[in-house]
Amino acid sequence: PQMTQERIQWLKGPDGPKYNVLVTGAAGFVGMHTALELKQMGMTPIGYDNVNPYYSTQLKDLRIQELEKRDIPFVKGDVCDRETLTNTIKAHNITRVIHLAAQAGVRYSLKHPLEYTHNNVDCFVHLMETMVALGLTKEPLVFASSSSVYGNNVKIPFQESDRLEDPASLYAATKRSDELLAQTYFNLYKLNSIGLRFFTVYGPYGRPDMAPWIFTDKISNQQTIRVFNHGQSKRDFTFVGDIVQGVVNSLFVDTHQPELVNLGNGQPVLLQDFVELVEEQVNAKAVIDSVGMQQGDVPVTYADITKARHLLGYNPNTTIEEGIQQFVSWFREHDASQYRMTTQ
Ligand code: NAD
Repeated sequence: PQMTQERIQWLKGPDGPKYNVLVTGAAGFVGMHTALELKQMGMTPIGYDNVNPYYSTQLKDLRIQELEKRDIPFVKGDVCDRETLTNTIKAHNITRVIHLAAQAGVRYSLKHPLEYTHNNVDCFVHLMETMVALGLTKEPLVFASSSSVYGNNVKIPFQESDRLEDPASLYAATKRSDELLAQTYFNLYKLNSIGLRFFTVYGPYGRPDMAPWIFTDKISNQQTIRVFNHGQSKRDFTFVGDIVQGVVNSLFVDTHQPELVNLGNGQPVLLQDFVELVEEQVNAKAVIDSVGMQQGDVPVTYADITKARHLLGYNPNTTIEEGIQQFVSWFREHDASQYRMTTQ
């Protein structure tokens, strides 16, 4: 099915359908923006997150405040806690679920493998079991996968139909497992789903463990940045506002089987060029420690977004310059260096 821009306009307008949507991971980066956008569209989002301390809980609290300012209910709970999850779904008459909660980060997964299998695999199974038990199977469960499932894919751009048998990190393996589990729950119980493979998301309220954040912080404070693969890696940086359009449009897809869809920008940027763009916005020179490839990393990510355009009416339109500018001005306004990572 093709999603036209006219249909999207109608769906999101005052006459479009209105749902009560559970957003897991709502104290997280993409989750907060998703809940705010749903509210803006006249839907009723309910935030759910265990506010784990992987990175600054003050930053997560700031995001929760943003939700509360707009009267979006927030429940502090774990996706693995089936009782709290079930009670939340019932209490708020939830009919749709957007599942963004996860232990994210590629490098951290080398040292903390069980955080990944627990939060990304076990909790996903708890969520799907809960949805089956409550009969929430017809409308697709929208969940976050990742570009990392493509591993060391050499064929670019990455297409959903590519064969994936070579995960480079534990994080990637858990996300690929989620995709297979979603297909399994469809085969067994007809639980429908849409898995979205996000490509390096950045923007205001972004994550302090990711390169855009770390570069902005360190360049602003005259600290040395480590640039992996000597700046020769390419990343398909995607602005959070664009990602969120893809996520919310997934609620309207008329599909009768599980789908996996790339959400990227489709325009990979050389890491070295990315550093220069941050330097321009911050108005300072980077001090660079140029190092080799890290274990778990991949040299390139590059999304083919044809499927997202057709199926979701996805149309990313934020240039990397605009996106970095928005991020850097958010960073300054919020004095965001205070949210810097303290753990590894
Ligand atoms: P994030 O870490 O900011 O948000 C995830 C949130 O989930 C956190 O607030 C965390 O507290 C919560 N959480 C973790 N385990 C939980 C559990 N068991 N129960 C309840 N809450 C739990 O990450 P993000 O960048 O917003 O990513 C959102 C989703 O997109 C994740 O699934 C991530 O793996 C995926 N993703 C993100 C990117 C990116 O570049 N940001 C890229 C690919 C995929």
